[in-house]
Amino acid sequence: MTTKTASRGSKVRKARNLRGLIASLDLGGTYIKAALVNRNGEIVIRERCSTEAGLGSRHVVKRLISTVHHLCSATEVSVDTLLGVGVGCAGPLNPSEGIVYHSPNLPGWSRVPIKAWMEESLELPVAIENDANAWALGEYLFGAGRGTRNMVCLTLGTGVGGGIVVDGRLVHGAKGLAAEFGHMTINTRGARCKCGNRGCLEVYASAAGVCRAMRRLLRKGVRTKVKSLMANNPKGLTSKVVAQAARQGDKPAQEALAEVGRYLGVGIANIANIFNPEMIVLGGAVAGAGRFLIEPARDESKRRAFPGVIQNLKIVRAKLGGDAALLGAAAPFLENTP
Ligand SMILES: [Zn+2]
Repeated sequence: MTTKTASRGSKVRKARNLRGLIASLDLGGTYIKAALVNRNGEIVIRERCSTEAGLGSRHVVKRLISTVHHLCSATEVSVDTLLGVGVGCAGPLNPSEGIVYHSPNLPGWSRVPIKAWMEESLELPVAIENDANAWALGEYLFGAGRGTRNMVCLTLGTGVGGGIVVDGRLVHGAKGLAAEFGHMTINTRGARCKCGNRGCLEVYASAAGVCRAMRRLLRKGVRTKVKSLMANNPKGLTSKVVAQAARQGDKPAQEALAEVGRYLGVGIANIANIFNPEMIVLGGAVAGAGRFLIEPARDESKRRAFPGVIQNLKIVRAKLGGDAALLGAAAPFLENTP
């Protein structure tokens, strides 16, 4: 296989606690993000390389394996001393069988036995996890959710996903497909979602949802800083531009985010009534709008959920960024974790 080591960037953050490391891989459609993690959940070394997804599943799995070797050689750690390898990947997938059924960002993937292929080559235990679940587990163990026992994470980005921790355990569901929060119906007569349903949370609380709400105001001819920010942005209208304008005091941008926040609040009320979590953690690019999104969401959820479940519910932003998925994928090999 070809391994473009020259294109890899790796950096040893701190050369300590090198015993009992776990290799952690976040497999995306464009990049593989990888790290060695110690038993305290600290990242010892990290690197990123291109996935080369177009070359097929066997090639990508070989790249995952070579990335583990590369991390170990850069740290002067023997591969056979690793406690295990955790892989986070967009699903649907089955963590117990170690099979990725298919993956939206990995063309041609169909029932790929990623765990078996990697275990055979590395002679180490391998655990796979849905990337949104890995992200939630990372935030639960080491980020915003630290200290809670019941927590729900929501990622608001291109899509809307999440993960559920109940009584300290990640909820997978019968087929490992739980926590598809993006596809809970928020508006029975709403716009069509990519999944085929109408009015899913993802239609409203995703980056496209923010743009749609803003576009509606632009069509009404409102005066807004978004227009000049769009002109200076090569990508035009984005959820980031709307958040930027809102932070600059632009009322229409704030109203667009408030509308998204109200739909998000409907979703949060449903989640709160079902799971009664202590905390809801919001991550992803759309959550970058901060209070302009969270406050309307909190108000709307208070109007809809049982007082007992909503009174003490904390709605906070995620803390770990991209590291959450890496730490969560390593979790099966960390001590005292779910
Ligand atoms: Zn949907």
